[in-house]
Amino acid sequence: MYFDPAETLARPELEKLQAERLRAVVKNAMTSPFYAERLKDFDPEDIRTAADITNLPFTTKDDLRGQYPYGLLTRPLDEFVRLHASSGTTGTPTAILYTQKDLDTWAELMARSMYAVGIRRSDVLQNLSGYGLFTGGLGIHYGSERLGCLTIPAGAGNTKRQIKLIRDFNVTAMHIIPSFALYFAAKVREEGYEPEDMPWKIALIGAEPHTEETRRRIEEMLHLKAYNSYGLSEMNGPGVAFECTEQNGMHVWEDSYIAEIIDPATGEHVPEGEIGELVMTTLTREGMPIIRYRTRDLTRFLPGECPCGRTGRRIDRIAGRADDMLILKGVNIYPMQIEQALMSMPEVGQNYLIELFREGYMDQLRVKVEIKDEYFVEDMRALQGLQKRIAARLCDEILVTPRVELVMHDSIPKAPGKAVRVMDLRDKE
Ligand code: AMP
Ligand code: ZN
Repeated sequence: MYFDPAETLARPELEKLQAERLRAVVKNAMTSPFYAERLKDFDPEDIRTAADITNLPFTTKDDLRGQYPYGLLTRPLDEFVRLHASSGTTGTPTAILYTQKDLDTWAELMARSMYAVGIRRSDVLQNLSGYGLFTGGLGIHYGSERLGCLTIPAGAGNTKRQIKLIRDFNVTAMHIIPSFALYFAAKVREEGYEPEDMPWKIALIGAEPHTEETRRRIEEMLHLKAYNSYGLSEMNGPGVAFECTEQNGMHVWEDSYIAEIIDPATGEHVPEGEIGELVMTTLTREGMPIIRYRTRDLTRFLPGECPCGRTGRRIDRIAGRADDMLILKGVNIYPMQIEQALMSMPEVGQNYLIELFREGYMDQLRVKVEIKDEYFVEDMRALQGLQKRIAARLCDEILVTPRVELVMHDSIPKAPGKAVRVMDLRDKE
């Protein structure tokens, strides 16, 4: 049933383990140049319970940038064997370094995650995400090998070759980024294959925000079960929180990470069940421990216990990133609200793009929406009707009426890797 006994530890035992590990993490972290300074007035012996974590300061993305490249390491450089980097495209990158033991721990967590959605050593797993510095490549890869699956490092792109490998080697499980999964599903049909006839059964989807509507679409279009997978390079990569077969939120592997949810404005914990910013602490990484990292990802703890028996608390799917919020005419808008509305409409195709532009002195919102071929008819009135319906549906969701531009299937460029959902053209048009 379970891959690791840690998955079902009773809460008091789990919390005791967390407190012990947190104490050790803080002691270890204090041997890095950054935390030696940041925690100089802190006594690790003051940590008695896991809840004492709130006495520790936060670590931010800017802290990591400021310490680039080596400021958070607790070991001599020659003990490190791998480097990954965050996908951020602006400013100084953040690099994460791993010792061999850290890679082993990560692979175990990843294998555990895959096991939780029913993947077994007899499965063949194809990884359709990019390799390179992105942790979704090698992270998933080593986890899959650790579980014992035949693992195909196909990487991103080249749909024809992907399909050939899948058919020739009877691929039963895939790792695929959700925005690519929708595109891929359409391509599979274009290539003349019926998803029902493909050998796959399970897809791991994650690495970028997506809605429940998108998951259902992926499941229907590819004819498989799709499971949400959350992680970030600062916490190793994928394998931080993962759905089980219940598909009702992602279990945080709390023996390896402490998760907190805070009000981003005050830094205080939000009341149980409310949405806030996820803050994460590594409990088992030796080479580069990170304490109370502000992920900027917005989510909430889900109440109650999961029927699967795992005791790790579950987080809801990521509602968006604190940095992604658009403010238009005084209204706060998250791209995921737009996606949710769009993906619930059968006429809407696989891709969309949100554009912010300026008209006179006013900021405006335009949403380009790909329409499925069968709805892209020549009848102007029908298209205008559809455009109005989409605008009205979006207005229900976000309380402002955006311009809606209908575009043909496949006409919005698909970003390699994580999707780009918002373009800010305010200083460009
Ligand atoms: P990176 O470290 O570059 O791989 O990026 C990590 C970020 O990707 C996270 O902080 C999230 O914003 C996003 N992310 C990863 N997995 C998910 C997921 N399952 N749902 C939503 N966003 C995700
Ligand atoms: Zn569960």
